[in-house]
Amino acid sequence: MSCRAPMKASFFRAAVAAVALVATSAPAQAASATADAPVTEADLAAHMKILAGDAFEGRAPGTDGEDRTIAYIVGEWAKAGLEAVPGSATPWLQPVPFIETQALGGTATFNVNGRNFPLDDDSIVLTGRDASVSLAGVPAVFVGYGIDSTGQVNADVRGKLAIMLFDNAPFGDRLPRYRERRQMLADAGASAVLVIATDAVPWDALRESVGSKSMRLASVKAGAPVSGFLSGNAADALFKAAGQDGAALREAAASADYRGMALPVAADFTAESTVRAFASHNIIAKLPGAKPDGKAVLFLGHWDHLGLCAPEGEADRICNGAVDNASGIAVLIEVAKRLGKGPRPDRDIYFLATTAEEKGLLGARWFADHPVVPLGDITVALNVDTIAISPRGTPVATIGRGKPAYDALVREVATRLGRTLDEDGEADAFIQRQDGWALGAKGVTSLMVGGSFSDMKLLEAFLSGDYHRAADNFSDKIPLGGAAEDADLHVALGRAFADTKRWPGK
Ligand SMILES: [Zn+2]
Repeated sequence: MSCRAPMKASFFRAAVAAVALVATSAPAQAASATADAPVTEADLAAHMKILAGDAFEGRAPGTDGEDRTIAYIVGEWAKAGLEAVPGSATPWLQPVPFIETQALGGTATFNVNGRNFPLDDDSIVLTGRDASVSLAGVPAVFVGYGIDSTGQVNADVRGKLAIMLFDNAPFGDRLPRYRERRQMLADAGASAVLVIATDAVPWDALRESVGSKSMRLASVKAGAPVSGFLSGNAADALFKAAGQDGAALREAAASADYRGMALPVAADFTAESTVRAFASHNIIAKLPGAKPDGKAVLFLGHWDHLGLCAPEGEADRICNGAVDNASGIAVLIEVAKRLGKGPRPDRDIYFLATTAEEKGLLGARWFADHPVVPLGDITVALNVDTIAISPRGTPVATIGRGKPAYDALVREVATRLGRTLDEDGEADAFIQRQDGWALGAKGVTSLMVGGSFSDMKLLEAFLSGDYHRAADNFSDKIPLGGAAEDADLHVALGRAFADTKRWPGK
C-alpha cells in the first residue's frame, strides 16, 4: 500500500466507531458455493515466507530482488496454467522505464542587493534534476502558493528562483498540493523552486526526503533544474535582508489574486546527483476463457516493496514487505491456481503484478497508459493489497463501491460464502493509496474487496506499527485467516465476473 495520503486520526476514530456497529451483525455461516478447494493459511504462508525472505532483499524495483520476485511469480503462475499475453513486449513482462535520482550534495549562495547573504548550513536542502547542475545569478521571486484560485501559476517564473509556501492555499477548492505546485512552477520555466518548510512537517523529514532516492517514470516531465526546501527562519531572514517582512508576505499571499513579489536577490546553485535510467517490470499473464466474449476480468496486486530501508548499521535493514504486499501476491497465486484447475471460466482472466506501487502507483499508471489488454475490455479490476490483517469472520468491505450492479454481485458472492458485509463506505479513505486508483482514473471499474479494510482498529494497528518498516517480516503471528477467506472470495468473484450468463460485462 502506498503512503502518499496519510490518514487523519479523526477519520480512524469515526471509522472504528462505525465499524464496531457493523461487526455486531450475525456471524458468518460456512457455505461452499464453488467446488474450488479452499485456500488455506498454509498455502499463503508458503509464498509469503519466500517473497518476504531476505534473499528477495525487500523487492525493490531494479534490484536483484526484482529478478527473484519475477522468477517466483512467473514460475507459480505458469504452474497455475496462465499464459503469456500477446502484445506484452516480452512474454509475461511489461518493461516500465524509470529514472532514479539521488542527491549527492549541493550549494546555494544568495546575494541580496549585491551583498552576500550568509545562510546556515542546515537551513536549506537541495537536489538537482541532472547529474551536475550549476546556475549563477538566478533572480528570486516569492510566489506565495504559486497558483491563483483557478489553479494556474500566478507569476512569471521563467528563468527564476521561485520561493513557494508548502501549506495548501487557503483559497479555492481542490487546489493542487505542494508537489504538484512545485512541478507546475518547473513546467512554467522556473530554474529553481525552493519550498519554505512548514511547521506541520519536521525539518528532518524534509531533509531526508531530498536526500533519499527518488524514482519517476521516464515518460513523466522532470522537475526544475534545482529544487529543495528552505527553513522558515532562513526564509524570514532572507526576506528581511531583502527589505520585506515574512509575516506580511505570507498574509499578502493568502489573497486569491496574489501575483508574487520580485526580490532583490540573486542566487547561485550547484548540485550533484546520481541519475540512473533503468527498466523495472510489470508481470502480466492470462487464463484464456472457455467462451470469451471480448470482456475480461483483471486481478492485480503490487509485487514491489521498499528494499533496503533502514540506515547502515541497523541490525535489520531490509523492509521485507510481508503483509505489504507479499500477502496480496500470495493470494493472487492461489487464486490463479484455483481458477486454472477448476471449471474454466467463460471470459479471459488477466493477472497483473505491478511494480513501483510504493513509489506512487507507478507500474499501474504505466499499465494504464500502455495497456497490453484494451482497458475497455476490462469489466472489473480487482486489486489485492495488504490483505493479511484480519482474522476469519471479518466482514467484507469494498473500496470503490457505488455502482449498484457491481455492489450487488459482490454482495451476492460474499453472502453465498457466508461472509457478512461492511458497506458503510469508509474503506474509501484508502481509494487513492492503491493501484486500482490508476485504472479507475482511466474509467476501469476497480474494486478492492476484503476484510482488511473493514476492521479499522486492526488496520490502524498495522499502519502505525510494522507498516513500511523493517518489522514487516514474515512471522507466524501474521493473521492469515482473513486473507485465506478473502482468497476464496476472490476465486468466487473471478468466477462470477467471468461468467457470461451471470454478469453482462458492463
Ligand atoms: Zn506500501
